[in-house]
Amino acid sequence: MTRMESMGESTRDGLGGHDGAMRYREQQRLAKGRCLLTEVTWPVVRDAVERGAGIIVPVGACEQHGYHMPLSTDTILVTELAVAVADRLGYLVAPPSNYGFRSRPLSGGGPTYPGTISLSATALIAQVADILDELVRHGFKRIVLLSMHLENQNMLWEAAWQTMRGREHEGLRIMVVEQGFASISERAIEILFGDEFPGWEVEHAAVMETSLMLFLRPDLVHMDQAVDDAAERKTTYEVLPVPADMITASGGLWKATRGTGEKGEAVWAELVDYLEGAVRMEMA
Ligand SMILES: [Zn+2]
Repeated sequence: MTRMESMGESTRDGLGGHDGAMRYREQQRLAKGRCLLTEVTWPVVRDAVERGAGIIVPVGACEQHGYHMPLSTDTILVTELAVAVADRLGYLVAPPSNYGFRSRPLSGGGPTYPGTISLSATALIAQVADILDELVRHGFKRIVLLSMHLENQNMLWEAAWQTMRGREHEGLRIMVVEQGFASISERAIEILFGDEFPGWEVEHAAVMETSLMLFLRPDLVHMDQAVDDAAERKTTYEVLPVPADMITASGGLWKATRGTGEKGEAVWAELVDYLEGAVRMEMA
């Protein structure tokens, strides 16, 4: 198969290979050069503080994402979202945290898969609080904490709370966005899942994340290894050590093979628009 033919295949398979998707990825690459702290110089940061720009702090995870996606999936997605929104608002993006709070069996497959590296609650809270303190020290007054790793919920809130305590009258504002997918509309849920939406808690390495990764980083997704998976036993509680029938062989918690780049593109537009609108409203 020639290279062109294989790109055509990719498009038909929904691997995000069409021109629009490629242009978008290039746009994101350039946006990173403008707003990611890991890619800009200190005078850029000084100027941003002087003009009152805000900064987004992405907090990800190093957590297995099935047979077909990288351990950094949550970090990649949250950083891409931060960059897309920051570039529209003239904000900066802090270096993402590659580590998050412990993976839970019911929402992330848990800690047993090789390579999943998690922080304790106290370590994550301390890390985020330290980052917030540093940003405040440099003069940022508008800070957005952003996570799409469900288990980080409450840790970011706690860090924000600790940082804000005693600074309520300093004009500082911190926004905590911990429910990465909660803003998705009924329409987008229908695009993703048809009429069998299984609930967000099992959307781990499944349709949604697979679709977003196929749109944003198709080079890192191995669709030939994607599987539809589900735990044999579904419970509302967790057990340690983790029983084998309460997690899956692949680590994915639902149907990964249904992911496509086209679905990802549609949902992505919604996620970016929603977050941009929310930040504009709360941080004005
Ligand atoms: Zn994930």
